[in-house]
Amino acid sequence: MKRSGTNPQEASHREGASDPAAERQNWAGNLSFRAVEIQEPGAVEEVQALVKSRARIKALGTRHSFHDIADTPGTHVSLARFREMTLDASRGTVSVGAGVRYGELAVWLHAQGLALKNLASLPHITVAGACATGTHGSGVGNQCLSTEVAAVEFVDGRGEWVRWSREDGERFRGAVVGLGALGVVTRLTLEVVPTFEVAQTVYESLPFAELERHWDDVLAAGYSVSLFTDWRHHQVGQVWVKRKTSGQAELEWMETLWGARRQQVKLHPLPGHSAEHCTEQMGCVGPWHERLPHFRMDFVPSSGAELQTEYLVPRERGMEALLAVERLSEEISPHLRISEIRTVAADELWMSMAYRQDSLAIHFTWQPHGEAVQRLLPQIEASLAPLGARPHWGKLFSAPRNSLTELYPRFKDFLALVRECDPEGKFRNAYIERYLLGEDGSS
Ligand SMILES: Cc1cc2nc3c(=O)[nH]c(=O)nc-3n(C[C@H](O)[C@H](O)[C@H](O)COP(=O)(O)OP(=O)(O)OC[C@H]3O[C@@H](n4cnc5c(N)ncnc54)[C@H](O)[C@@H]3O)c2cc1C
Repeated sequence: MKRSGTNPQEASHREGASDPAAERQNWAGNLSFRAVEIQEPGAVEEVQALVKSRARIKALGTRHSFHDIADTPGTHVSLARFREMTLDASRGTVSVGAGVRYGELAVWLHAQGLALKNLASLPHITVAGACATGTHGSGVGNQCLSTEVAAVEFVDGRGEWVRWSREDGERFRGAVVGLGALGVVTRLTLEVVPTFEVAQTVYESLPFAELERHWDDVLAAGYSVSLFTDWRHHQVGQVWVKRKTSGQAELEWMETLWGARRQQVKLHPLPGHSAEHCTEQMGCVGPWHERLPHFRMDFVPSSGAELQTEYLVPRERGMEALLAVERLSEEISPHLRISEIRTVAADELWMSMAYRQDSLAIHFTWQPHGEAVQRLLPQIEASLAPLGARPHWGKLFSAPRNSLTELYPRFKDFLALVRECDPEGKFRNAYIERYLLGEDGSS
């Protein structure tokens, strides 16, 4: 694989970047990229020249997706050198280069008294890569991270530079969760809010019966709530409650939460893993970016040796969905590390998994049992199909294209936008042909 334009100083702190072999794989190591070269342009004009000169090309983020969404048979473009962060105080926005990761943006914003509304479970991912797949955190009032985007700048398939903002209406809403299919994003403008503090406390062992009885209250027990279960014992093993402190030095935490006990020690969601990898718990107040993600920027998130899958269902039918998955616990358990259940508020972005639907996200962190997981996915999908489950674009799923077209009311409009932005199919890859265009690349 050829590489050019690398900035070693910047590359050195990216996960796996010191190991060229690792760069040919995704983060989980379950996929080897087909790309024949990686280019690291340093300016928009260089991105334009690359797009114009290549038949197939694809932007690559931090490689945290679990399948071939970021792959290409041609050239990978890393935006690692696009690192600028510029505030526009009058508009309440920050513009970030496509190589910026949430972890570094968050520290920089906090130092200036600012924040983002929400974050995913890990801070290691690029803003551009996360927004391209509709990445989300949790909270009944929190939409996916892509909704914080106020403007997107990208190089389209003709090599033209394009800037669309909220004022551009529908096509902007089509472009934000772009699945890497519309172009190479070089910069995003995000809404910011005043910085805030958060404290998180974990509660252990919440019976499913109590969850069902107090459904809305449990999910809204904090600004952001995550439930972890292994689908055994008819219970949630851990309830992670993240609350805004509203200026109070301490929050009062109940000893029990609908039967779940307040933690005595710091916990990792995965049994047997060191809690040192996790952000502070036990009600200890801290800045938003050191509490909203579960995992610390300087440690490997989750387990590292894993696969992931996630489905979003309508929130009001969430308990039905959990019980449907629980019925498969015998099949699931041998391959599961842990499941996480979160909420995502509805939005208007065409390809967002929470498009016009307040959602419950049911996530599976699998052991790296690739074949067994692939065999299990159709079973899980069949049990969730009656609920209109939308698979996470960046995680493993098996749903065929025709089921996806039904799940996304703007699917056809998105395809039209893809063709408009990429008439020659430069950003096409096997994933786009399989799930968006149909196997033959038509529609
Ligand atoms: C440990 C772990 C925890 C995770 N936790 C969460 C979570 O809490 N919530 C959640 O929703 N998801 C989560 N994910 C999934 C993850 O957020 C998504 O897969 C996300 O897209 C990864 O971003 P990335 O920068 O690694 O992008 P990549 O995986 O490198 O790329 C993903 C897509 O974005 C496109 N892309 C990247 N950069 C650009 C660009 N500059 N221009 C145009 N397109 C671009 C790629 O072409 C590709 O289509 C997790 C993944 C892991 C490994």
